[in-house]
Amino acid sequence: MMEQPRTPMPGAELLAQFAAIVGPANALTAPHDQAPYLREWRDHYVGRTPVVLRPSTVAEVSAIMALAHASGTAVVPQSGNTGLVGGQIPFEHGHEVLLNLSRLDRIRAVDASGDTMTVEAGVTLAAVQQAAATAGRLFPLSLASEGSCRIGGVLGTNAGGVGVLAYGNARDLTLGLEVVLADGRMWDGLTALRKDNTGYDLRHLFVGSEGTLGIITAAVLKLFARPTELATAFVGLPSLEAARDLFRHARASCGPALTAFEILPRLGIDFVTRHMPNCRDPLTSSHPWYALVEVSGFAAGTSERLETMLADAMEQGFVADAAVAGSLAQTQAFWALRENMSESQKFEGGSLKHDVSVPIDRIPELVRRTAVLVEQIMPGCRPLPFGHFGDGNIHLNISQPPGMDKATYLARWREITGPIYALVTELNGSISAEHGIGRAKREDLLLVKPPVALDMMRAVKKALDPKGILNPGRIFE
Ligand SMILES: Cc1cc2nc3c(=O)[nH]c(=O)nc-3n(C[C@H](O)[C@H](O)[C@H](O)COP(=O)(O)OP(=O)(O)OC[C@H]3O[C@@H](n4cnc5c(N)ncnc54)[C@H](O)[C@@H]3O)c2cc1C
Repeated sequence: MMEQPRTPMPGAELLAQFAAIVGPANALTAPHDQAPYLREWRDHYVGRTPVVLRPSTVAEVSAIMALAHASGTAVVPQSGNTGLVGGQIPFEHGHEVLLNLSRLDRIRAVDASGDTMTVEAGVTLAAVQQAAATAGRLFPLSLASEGSCRIGGVLGTNAGGVGVLAYGNARDLTLGLEVVLADGRMWDGLTALRKDNTGYDLRHLFVGSEGTLGIITAAVLKLFARPTELATAFVGLPSLEAARDLFRHARASCGPALTAFEILPRLGIDFVTRHMPNCRDPLTSSHPWYALVEVSGFAAGTSERLETMLADAMEQGFVADAAVAGSLAQTQAFWALRENMSESQKFEGGSLKHDVSVPIDRIPELVRRTAVLVEQIMPGCRPLPFGHFGDGNIHLNISQPPGMDKATYLARWREITGPIYALVTELNGSISAEHGIGRAKREDLLLVKPPVALDMMRAVKKALDPKGILNPGRIFE
């Protein structure tokens, strides 16, 4: 059913006022110019808007929001347009203005000795990593979309990725924020302090708020020492229980030097090697599960430490085979298998995605029971659980049965997703570990969030956006 507009369609005069703030070249109205901003990468959401606004300064963002507030116009914030729950795409009714932050792309400061960096919302995650590296420091957040996603969206969704195990998610890496509020006022919270207990910590309201509470225009991010040693292994495993045992063992023997622990199922390796160029299985025999294990730090002999840890694990029976990367090219080839996992599923028809987390010990039960559940519901469909085992976050994707019509499969998503979310809830997990709620999960949120929590969330929304113009219909119905 099409979403009903909650705010009026902006008239020609109002649109001219919005355009005057950014100049005509950055107020896009032609369908051809708007197209890249209105479609997300999987084509799950295709929206409409009267105008795409592309401000290049915080003052312009403030002026846009002040005008939106005064006129009651809905605004959809967008940074890199790689979000996976539809929060950055306007609804099909076309009443919402799209505010794209990609031109706010300055790195304002890098403080290598203080280990901080101040960047604007439109800087890509890859550019942040690169600027940190140039200063001899590390910004550890890493996602497969890092070349395209931008800091505004990364913080807007509280992104996770493969470095969470050692360094935490986007929230943990944020010291301060600059935010334009729904009424156009700018909050300068760009502090680089590590300790500041002066009342409520407002930055945490905005991180993960998916554009519903304010427009993040800049942030102070934490930097780290750059490890001098790095070793990566691709490991064949007999079972998911063995993955759990290997994780425990790796943590016990490597401590904080264990910086990534991702899992991949055999089906995923089949998809990646079948469809993605230059992806090869590094092991000679086939295994039901694989782990990508990274150890990094400063002490010499990291590679030997990883090899000893794996040899012990092999002796104890929970590692079947392993390859340790002998060069940077090999390390990249191992990671390419992981990074192409999402993309390769496109070639196998429809895929229902579930970004869930459970306590680590319950991952094997989650995966086993999901396989039984979905086979009962739709015989022949193919579970492809993969991802961030080390922090309990599994991308529980279910590919369609071979030969089935893709649209027919995707239309039956509720039949599969409902029972999976019920199972995740039973296992004390979360139905959205890192992608957020957006449009995709707003009905499900009502089923899993305690009413008191929903009341508090609505109260915060009402206080910061009383007219309901910031990303209406996202997170909440
Ligand atoms: C191949 C692929 C792999 C991915 N892997 C991961 C992963 O491992 N971990 C993970 O967490 N995510 C992952 N994602 C999801 C996505 O890349 C991240 O959520 C990313 O952080 C979104 O950034 P963006 O700039 O593209 O945001 P957008 O898509 O532009 O926006 C996302 C949300 O944030 C809001 N928003 C955007 N800009 C602002 C702003 N300036 N102020 C306030 N709100 C704003 C939007 O309204 C929307 O609700 C992946 C996506 C793809 C396509």
